[in-house]
Amino acid sequence: MKTIIEPFRIKTVEPIRMTTHEERTRLIKDADYNLFTLHSDDVLIDLLTDSGTGAMSAAQWAAVMRGDESYAGSPSYFRFRDAVQNLAPFKHIIPTHQGRAAEAILFSMFGGTGRLIPNNTHFDTTRGNIEASGALAHDLVIDEGKDPSNEHPFKGNMNLEKLDAYLAEHGDAVPCVMITITNNAGGGQPVSLANIQSTSELARKYGKPFFIDGCRFAENAWFIKQREKGQQDRSITEIVRDCFSVADGMTMSAKKDAFGNIGGWLAFNDDDLAEQARTHLIRTEGFPTYGGLSGRDLEALAQGLTEIVDEDYLRYRIRTNEYIVERLSALGIPVVKPAGGHAVFIDARSWLSHIDPLSYPGQALAVALYEIAGIRSCEIGTVMFGRHPDGSESPAAMDLVRLAIPRRTYTQSHADYIIEAFEELCEVRTSLKGYGIAWEPSLMRHFTCKFAPLD
Ligand SMILES: *Cc1c(COP(=O)(O)O)cnc(C)c1O
Repeated sequence: MKTIIEPFRIKTVEPIRMTTHEERTRLIKDADYNLFTLHSDDVLIDLLTDSGTGAMSAAQWAAVMRGDESYAGSPSYFRFRDAVQNLAPFKHIIPTHQGRAAEAILFSMFGGTGRLIPNNTHFDTTRGNIEASGALAHDLVIDEGKDPSNEHPFKGNMNLEKLDAYLAEHGDAVPCVMITITNNAGGGQPVSLANIQSTSELARKYGKPFFIDGCRFAENAWFIKQREKGQQDRSITEIVRDCFSVADGMTMSAKKDAFGNIGGWLAFNDDDLAEQARTHLIRTEGFPTYGGLSGRDLEALAQGLTEIVDEDYLRYRIRTNEYIVERLSALGIPVVKPAGGHAVFIDARSWLSHIDPLSYPGQALAVALYEIAGIRSCEIGTVMFGRHPDGSESPAAMDLVRLAIPRRTYTQSHADYIIEAFEELCEVRTSLKGYGIAWEPSLMRHFTCKFAPLD
């Protein structure tokens, strides 16, 4: 059968408030053409992020009722810890309120002026925490990972020759090696098991601890099972364990592959590192058996972790993205290939080539997609990365629009609606105009800046 059916049925529904093209044209104007400024109930299909926006299962909601809110030693913590260790067999599991809190603690220990931290590609909060400590963050992904149309099966892989040379050259300045699965900032592209193992061996060779940013470990394992030689007959759980078993610890946002609306954790094998991290945790997040989460959150995550490795779920999730990519490609729309694990990316610079990169083709596409169909996407390009600390501006490496797909939230007819919205956009593509920035803050301008349409 070719139809992708959701491997679940729906017990609770949330209404989507329908709006007209005319209303949306007014709403986005009132929001100064910034999609972050919109009220979410003015959005029909919200593809701004896949973080914390997934649907919980009936079993997760039932687990919420079991949450034990004891300050110390709650049974909810021990269920959470056991569920994490079942997949990621680290000795110490330290809950945090989300992924960036785990990063802040890790880099209070491993960061600092003069230090250098390599990764395939640092996610922006990881980079932010490293740089805030005074250290520098370097991206060493393979070259294929930077080419939107290259169909390499593991475009998130670490460039091992570069990493070897980097460690040989900078030796003492490097406190640890990281890898991010899947490579979020690089289009949600996977990392192979062999590459994770080789990265670990290189880190060992130079005596450096190796950490995995594991936010999308289950999606990554699904790609390994599909694409890596010898992995086809293995379970997702076995593959996930193999990935984590070669690391010394991990950071995690449970808003991704733990089916949580909030949560995260930090893990170590080393007793001294765990002790240091817990001391920091008590100061900033909470006691080590809750770490910024309620008992009911911990229960929801413990249950979510048993559901995320389900192959029927992963097949449906990844297949939906592939389906959207195939259909948009067939319409002649340039999309990043192959489809990533959690999002579909449109190459707005090449599709709207009549708009200069400094007039933000990604923003023009994102606004038009909202006006035409009520779909909220996210510009990942010159608005986000084009301005430099000295105030000057230049085009980012790419002007992409990201359609991030929340977990278990939308259905196949929503996917067809997204495709139809792009069919409509094909008709008006050449008449779309660029934007200028009427006001911007001094940092991270994309969240709050105000745009004005150009004539
Ligand atoms: C989301 C994310 C983070 C940060 O997690 P939060 O829960 O949003 O703080 C870190 N790394 C990657 C790869 C992510 O996708």
